[in-house]
Amino acid sequence: MSISVMPGERPDRLEEACAVFGVFAPGEDVARLTCFGLQALQHRGQESAGIAVGDGETVMVYKDLGLVTQVFNENALSALRGNVAVGHCRYATAGGGGWECSQPHISAIDDVLIALAHNGTLVNTGAVRARLVGDGVDLRSNTDSEVAAKVIGQETKRTHHLRDGIRSMMQILEGAYAMVVATPVSLYAFRDPNGIRPLCIGKLANGGWVVASETCGLDIVGAEYVRDVEPGEIVRFSADGMHSEQGVPAGKRASCIFEYVYFARPDSVLDGQGVYQSRRDMGRILAQEAPVDADLVMGVPDSGLPAASGYAAESGIPYADGIVKNRYVGRSFIQPTQAMRQNAIRIKLNPLPSVIAGKRLIVIDDSIVRGNTSKKLVAMLKEAGAAEVHLRIVSPEVMWPCFYGIDTDTQDQLIAANMTNEQMCEFIGCDSLAFISLQGLHSAIHANHPGFCDACFSGDYVTDIPAPLQEKGFFEKNRRKFSSIS
Ligand code: SF4
Repeated sequence: MSISVMPGERPDRLEEACAVFGVFAPGEDVARLTCFGLQALQHRGQESAGIAVGDGETVMVYKDLGLVTQVFNENALSALRGNVAVGHCRYATAGGGGWECSQPHISAIDDVLIALAHNGTLVNTGAVRARLVGDGVDLRSNTDSEVAAKVIGQETKRTHHLRDGIRSMMQILEGAYAMVVATPVSLYAFRDPNGIRPLCIGKLANGGWVVASETCGLDIVGAEYVRDVEPGEIVRFSADGMHSEQGVPAGKRASCIFEYVYFARPDSVLDGQGVYQSRRDMGRILAQEAPVDADLVMGVPDSGLPAASGYAAESGIPYADGIVKNRYVGRSFIQPTQAMRQNAIRIKLNPLPSVIAGKRLIVIDDSIVRGNTSKKLVAMLKEAGAAEVHLRIVSPEVMWPCFYGIDTDTQDQLIAANMTNEQMCEFIGCDSLAFISLQGLHSAIHANHPGFCDACFSGDYVTDIPAPLQEKGFFEKNRRKFSSIS
């Protein structure tokens, strides 16, 4: 549940970090296809949107701050003619939120332009950025994604082939990345060696190719899912068709498990597993692991709804819609009044007293990060007349920061890293609180591949922890908590 409706306010949840989309389809309106693809992926980032088009000679980019429908109109799309396009929706993590951070980023290889769009976070760009600056490379933003675009440009000049430039970037830069690159005549898609962020391939009926962060981005343009881009793989789409090669060796598989919990749209399919069914099974398992006597089960819209229906089915307790979401309050630059700020949760979520009053509620939510939003939610439900509120969470306790493209707080702000369950329950004001076990979460996802990243729950990071985070000493909090419990 996100209540990030206040300009400048940090959301009390893990937040997505961007969507990418790419299309190679000569004869099609590739900018329009990309615009629709980005609208389907808008939930992954609402701060800026951009499209770059390759027309055989050069690459043109149009991007701005705002939602896809705020940035693009018929005039903008009709100016973007070509055979290949990449697009991006941004949620700001690395680099801040100004226009210059919006994507796609352009890089010049002599007089040839390429445009890059990135979902994820690179963890070792500091030294690389310094080297680029020393080499006289013009960096317009402080984002990791622009560093990647410039490294590809520089390495392509050195190796004389874009594929080798991409391969060099994959060897130089570490972290999480699902990237698409448009050249004047081709589309490239590639993914980090652990496959942390998702990226899938689809085919249009006319033979064109589409790449998207999630399958809902394929569905909206009528593309048929073909397969995912494999970890470490580089895929090229051109007039010669689709060509694949391994850019860098695949490492330990670590697809982000939180995509299934919250980030991905419920109608998407990740690694062959439907997100909706996974969420429903999380609710079923949570009902087995943390039963409680109550009158109604309800979910916090939207991600809590499938899990609530699963919990209700498993427990036999009736399901109810007791919270209504205002779907048209997004990330906004319009300041609410001071009075509205004090009751922020009501801007986005409104309870139904006629359903709730006098009832003992089981309320299903996807996660608890700092706990402030859960506290407001419980207070709102009790004000609406709920007799009891039992919070059930379909992810384990978020104990560790994510540095793979997801916006999390430092560990001292993560409530579960600092309080026992009883302390959290008291702080939030609920009558009971339970989280799904990590094993339970894994068993709700039947995806056909060998491994997930679950580091924000387990602390088991698939890459080295970046030095700046180590310097913050974020291990200390968990040591303190565990030693106080044992
Ligand atoms: S730590 Fe791993 S599982 Fe958690 S949000 Fe980040 S990538 Fe996803």
